[in-house]
Amino acid sequence: MDVIAMSGVVKSYGDVRALDGLDLRVERGLVVALLGANGAGKTTTFELLLDLVRPTAGRVEVLGGPPGAARGRVGAMLQSAGLPEQVTVRELVRLVGRAHPRALQVHEVLARTGLGTRARRTVTALSGGERQRLLLALALVGQPELLLLDEPTAAMDVLSRRAFWEQARAAAAGGATVLFATHDLAEVAAFADRAVVLAGGRVVADGAPASLALGGDLEAAFVHLAAPAVAGGGHR
Ligand code: ATP
Repeated sequence: MDVIAMSGVVKSYGDVRALDGLDLRVERGLVVALLGANGAGKTTTFELLLDLVRPTAGRVEVLGGPPGAARGRVGAMLQSAGLPEQVTVRELVRLVGRAHPRALQVHEVLARTGLGTRARRTVTALSGGERQRLLLALALVGQPELLLLDEPTAAMDVLSRRAFWEQARAAAAGGATVLFATHDLAEVAAFADRAVVLAGGRVVADGAPASLALGGDLEAAFVHLAAPAVAGGGHR
């Protein structure tokens, strides 16, 4: 069974087609990178998978059913995620864990995400990178079958990134599927099993990162693939 199955997905906002015939299937246990220039449709893809928005046309399935039915089995880190500011790290992880039948112990999640020494701090007292780690802790606490991570390491330093990917890969080794968006191509080469490139709301390349990097340079391959959308889309 595919963990993610999207076919012919269109998402329109007035005249803007955020997605324009997206086809994407992801098998269990893979770490998949979603790449694309600004506005290519990455965040919209996550919003559809999380049932935060509905497709204008096409089919979206998560864990074999409609996205709404899979909610409790999916963990997510979104760019737009808001957090209550006056709650402590420990309280918040405990609270979110309560909503999940298979939740991990709070101290275990905090240790895994390097937040053990920050357990008593309020959210407002966290640094940008620590806040990202808290979002990861909240995404992991329910032991999700699917992790959706929208630019998860954007605010992290090198050591935090490395620790972050250790956790994400460990979740995948345990059977979870990971879909993450990033603009960091080194991260894709180092951590993804598969890279999917979006341009203009559809998939323009899909394969092992090494296979996409024509001649070994992932950045050159990305510029080549994503450029038509940056230039205004399909004018040739
Ligand atoms: P970035 O790398 O900048 O985060 P992205 O690949 O995540 O970009 P999306 O956020 O999915 O791109 O946006 C795709 C397109 O849809 C963009 O043109 C964006 O302006 C448009 N769009 C997304 N959400 C809305 C909305 N709620 N209303 C109107 N237009 C939207």
